[in-house]
Amino acid sequence: MFDKILIANRGEIALRIQRACRELGIATVAVHSTADADAMHVRLADESVCIGPPSARESYLNIPALVTACEITGADAVHPGYGFLSENARFAEILEEHKITFIGPTSEHIRIMGDKIEAKETAKKLGIPVVPGSAGAVTSETEAMKIAKDMGFPVLIKAAAGGGGRGMKVATSAADLGMALSTARSEAKAAFNDDAVYIEKYLQKPRHIEIQVFGDGKGDAVHLGERDCSLQRRHQKVLEESPSPALNAAQRQKIGTTVAEAMKKIKYRGAGTVEFLFEDGEFYFIEMNTRLQVEHPVTEMVTGTDLVLEQIRVAAGLPLSFTQDDIELKGHAIECRICAENPKDFRPSPGQITYWHPPGGLGVRVDSGVYQGYRIPPFYDSLIGKLIVTGKTRNDALMRLRRALAEFVIDGIETTIPLFQDLVKDPDIVNGVYDIHWLEKHLGMK
Ligand code: ADP
Repeated sequence: MFDKILIANRGEIALRIQRACRELGIATVAVHSTADADAMHVRLADESVCIGPPSARESYLNIPALVTACEITGADAVHPGYGFLSENARFAEILEEHKITFIGPTSEHIRIMGDKIEAKETAKKLGIPVVPGSAGAVTSETEAMKIAKDMGFPVLIKAAAGGGGRGMKVATSAADLGMALSTARSEAKAAFNDDAVYIEKYLQKPRHIEIQVFGDGKGDAVHLGERDCSLQRRHQKVLEESPSPALNAAQRQKIGTTVAEAMKKIKYRGAGTVEFLFEDGEFYFIEMNTRLQVEHPVTEMVTGTDLVLEQIRVAAGLPLSFTQDDIELKGHAIECRICAENPKDFRPSPGQITYWHPPGGLGVRVDSGVYQGYRIPPFYDSLIGKLIVTGKTRNDALMRLRRALAEFVIDGIETTIPLFQDLVKDPDIVNGVYDIHWLEKHLGMK
């Protein structure tokens, strides 16, 4: 097992990883920008290293500074969390070259899945159903038009290097295809320095359902059920739950097995998420994330596992601590992403938290990196915490969520808590009937 892990992240996830390390008796190194000197993950770590100025490019994305921090502190492994360098194949490679373990999959798997065109190709070869679309990158408008007409409008132009919901454009008819193609291209170029795009059938009313997988890197792999992340705004998840109210046991078993078998074939290592759109009983692969996800706690709560601990164990060369038969979904879990934003127009609301009272009690978990008196810096994303509730049934979880949201007090800044208070009252949410467009329609964006 490792002696010391450097956590190359900030906020709630840095703390989440630190907690797992503590429980394993592993020392931790926090890294931080100058803007994060008094962050909770720094305060609680065994050691900390300042790696640069506020801009993420010069700090949390600064590979030389991170490698130096490992060398100075003698860390023998790095946990990248999510975002930042978590899906950067080059970072994984550089660490290996320095004899530092990257807690994640091989750089080759990160690279393949990071290119969505290649990821889709790979998924198809592995027997995973994919969204109908172009066979690879699309370069000319003529080619795009032929594919779109064959498939039927609407279609979606997506960036091969895409992420965070960026570089995606819908074309509803032949008339707007040219425009959608060129804007998607220039957005992709600006955001990812790669203008490769591809075309997919634009599904009208799908749910976003993703399967959590875990591999030991030697050919064993299991799935840990699904998360329903259909409540989205601008293709970004807002609330997640497990199990999905839209799946039955047979459907879960079938897609879970398909994905686990695929992961066995490629000898996948560590945690991964295979994302699907689900419409009319059919699954369509959209992408795979080769890292821990923000919403991993809902899976932990219904499976009784510790996914970060498992990542660390597998990275240290240990076998999986559970078999497929050990994994049983019990009860229901729901997560709300609490952001420092105006709950109506979602404008960021950085500033000082003057009062902080998180909810507690049976079945309530709050993963957060903030505290009373903490000043939220304006440089990073606005997620300040996650409220995760569990219950025996979905209805119990919803009742608990209502009471937990009512207990939650955060003063000094605006948060998205009022949005969730509104959502948990809505009959569609209560009945579990919502697709990926529901929230934007509800918010009057569509
Ligand atoms: P990113 O990596 O940017 O998050 P994804 O491919 O994971 O992009 O897609 C994000 C979201 O965009 C999905 O959850 C879904 O809401 C929407 N989306 C993606 N592909 C399609 C599609 N073919 N049809 C309809 N919606 C889609």
